[in-house]
Amino acid sequence: MTAAGRPLEPDATLGILGGGQLGRMLALAAAHLGFKCHVLCPEPLSCAFDVVRRVTEADYTDKAALDRFADDVDLITYEFENVPAETAAFLSARKLVLPDPQVLATTQDRLAEKHWLAALGIPTAPCSAVDTPKGLTRALKELGRPAVLKTRRFGYDGKGQAAIRPGDDPEAAWREIGAQPAILEAFVTFEREISVVVARGRDGKAVCFDIAENEHRDHILKVSRIPAAITQAVADEAHRIALRIVEAFGYVGVLAVEMFVVPNQNGAAVLVNEIAPRVHNSGHWTLDGCSVSQFEQHIRAVAGWPLAVPLRHGRAEMINLIGSEVKDYRKWLNAPGASVHLYGKTAVRPGRKMGHVTRVFKQ
Ligand code: AMP
Repeated sequence: MTAAGRPLEPDATLGILGGGQLGRMLALAAAHLGFKCHVLCPEPLSCAFDVVRRVTEADYTDKAALDRFADDVDLITYEFENVPAETAAFLSARKLVLPDPQVLATTQDRLAEKHWLAALGIPTAPCSAVDTPKGLTRALKELGRPAVLKTRRFGYDGKGQAAIRPGDDPEAAWREIGAQPAILEAFVTFEREISVVVARGRDGKAVCFDIAENEHRDHILKVSRIPAAITQAVADEAHRIALRIVEAFGYVGVLAVEMFVVPNQNGAAVLVNEIAPRVHNSGHWTLDGCSVSQFEQHIRAVAGWPLAVPLRHGRAEMINLIGSEVKDYRKWLNAPGASVHLYGKTAVRPGRKMGHVTRVFKQ
């Protein structure tokens, strides 16, 4: 089904695939606009289940459950990019699914994504496909060390990645990522990491949020600072790239582009690291630091509503509460300008995103 058609009325029911914190915050934003939500997720304790009208706890391949889910909703969206292609196709035949699942084929595979970006003339880190240990040796000769070996599919928060430094055994890295189709990427000596969160409506109008500067710890986003400390030229280039990407996909919804800023003779260049066809952790600051959140902007886009013009309230900082850090939430409750968000996840595990804090400061 196509994105054409009537906008949703405020009492419509939105179907959300995925029940994590992103689904939860999407559902809260949808409720704010008068929509009802139905979340489908296989995990019984999904934190998005706590805030919606209906839930389906079922596997993404359970056709009977998918059928009932599709029957109950007016439109379907998703909170994560690893929705199986068959699930998306099955649902698309029944209800409008936005963003168009065609983007998943490109963004679920790091190699396909790199080729797609290259065809648009958008620069990325030099990389090479690796399918065997021999292929890895060849790629290392071509790209040099250090380099990063990444699985083509299902990588997130540094999972499915192994650095190969001078002296490291490439076969160990190959085993570490599970001996599966991969890419080898040249190591990028970046000045900083940034991301652009962009929304595009059904009418093709696109709006970017201010650019976040991202600090990772153990490959997991720890802090986003907004605005990023970059020149206007770098910001313009980053926005241009993000807009080019959503335009080329004919995208509807919110999408994030993670980028490296790399020093060069002209000052700095921007390389794309990764595209996330969904709302993104580096956009959480918009809940408290902006006149419209990335979640509301996504709901507006898929519902066929006009996008809001985002106005930032001040300088913002978003801090993830990861694993047992969530136990410290009380210390943030009285911090000036701080908003505490807890995702309601019961099991605390190392590396698990349990909540976040946003601090907004006058410029
Ligand atoms: P990714 O899962 O590809 O987003 O990678 C997670 C994090 O690992 C990035 O945000 C970077 O901090 C780091 N990283 C990934 N690829 C590279 C690279 N080619 N060079 C340097 N650092 C990288």
